[in-house]
Amino acid sequence: MIVMKFGGSSVANAERIRHVASIIGAYQDKRPVVVLSAMGDTTDHLLEAADEAVAGNADISRIEKLHRDTADSLGLSGTDLQAVDALLSELYALLTGISMIRELTKRTRDYLVSFGERLSVRIVAAFLQSQGIPARFYDAWDAGLISDSVFMNAELSDDVWETIPEALGSYRDGIQKEIPVVTGFIAKDMNGNITTLGRGGSDLTATMIGAALQAEEIQTWKDVDGILSADPRIVARAKTVPLVTYEEAAELAYFGAQILHPRSMVPCRKAGIPVRVKNSYNPAFEGSLIIEKHTAEPSPVRAITAVKNSTLIDIVSTRMLGASGFLARIFDLFLKHDISIDVIATSEVSVSLTVHTNADLSGLVEDLKDIADIRVKTGRSIITLICDAAHSSSILASAFSALAENGINPEMISQGASKVNVGLVCENTLADKTVRTLHAAFFE
Ligand code: ASP
Ligand code: MG
Repeated sequence: MIVMKFGGSSVANAERIRHVASIIGAYQDKRPVVVLSAMGDTTDHLLEAADEAVAGNADISRIEKLHRDTADSLGLSGTDLQAVDALLSELYALLTGISMIRELTKRTRDYLVSFGERLSVRIVAAFLQSQGIPARFYDAWDAGLISDSVFMNAELSDDVWETIPEALGSYRDGIQKEIPVVTGFIAKDMNGNITTLGRGGSDLTATMIGAALQAEEIQTWKDVDGILSADPRIVARAKTVPLVTYEEAAELAYFGAQILHPRSMVPCRKAGIPVRVKNSYNPAFEGSLIIEKHTAEPSPVRAITAVKNSTLIDIVSTRMLGASGFLARIFDLFLKHDISIDVIATSEVSVSLTVHTNADLSGLVEDLKDIADIRVKTGRSIITLICDAAHSSSILASAFSALAENGINPEMISQGASKVNVGLVCENTLADKTVRTLHAAFFE
């Protein structure tokens, strides 16, 4: 058996759902478990509806229209349509409640966004069924997905290694015929509250189900040709990376490639299940494979990513020279202000590091000024080369000569000890040019 996960854009409307159904149909003999995201941007629309409700206005018109129009156009009727309607009424009641009390806890927010995935599995399972492909929808908790109670960023419980096979084992073993169509992204905690696994969490649902059921393969279907060497919106000539390791895939996710949920590599790696990233617009193409180890000598740089809108903080103090505990004091201040550091580089007398721009830095900067000279530079981008440590000096040499030829001076460089990345920081305005220059140097 396999797991097939389709993201929001793959199920964005009736036409896309028809297409996804035909792909699922083509894989029927592989006995897929299907994992789905909410349709299109529904999760964002639900979060916007929540904000509006807090402001006093309960409005589900946009969400209702998309799902009703889709259900209509796919010809849903009877109990299938009732299942969609029932959820829409419950959603409206919830928003009305929020609009009256005008507050929204993280727990209620998770309950609210769960409607996106719950609607999409009902619609898609009903449509598959109408096409003669036996299918049955599952809310995550009916498929054994239980989590802790960290709302909006829940962690799946270790028990899922047992509860998922308990719930889906009869399908795996060929007893149940209907293809399970499971909600991605959501779970329930021990107390029966709905939780979510963090944005993009459907990937984790898929890899966890595949790992727990010992699937042959976990497929995540996108609308590009697998994992690309760079963002195709920046580099037109970006090309498919045929093979990356679990570790490299996780690095790619951490450093901004919008391919997979960063935590999604954990279960499949543990169980040794291969993940394949496929293109729903080009289903015959094999896409990218993610496994434990390279099978042949790979190209030294696998991919280049960019995360924009970071802030660079330079901390300079001659007191640092030969003093012990100076870095500890700096890190304590970051801890005190609850600001997490992305990339860091240090010398004898200075520390440069980046943080997300949306963090409020004023308190931290005040405190840092007591012990060092501080410079804060906003509007920076982090460019990461996902590569081999074994080749890092030659990679750095090629990167620098290409950048120098193009007049680009990175403001900071850091080589991660995890051995699979080199990070550069530059101004936002130079980010695209930097990515294109590096891509040309390593891939073209
Ligand atoms: N629908 C959720 C989101 O947009 C989960 C997912 O798509 O994986 O973040
Ligand atoms: Mg989504």
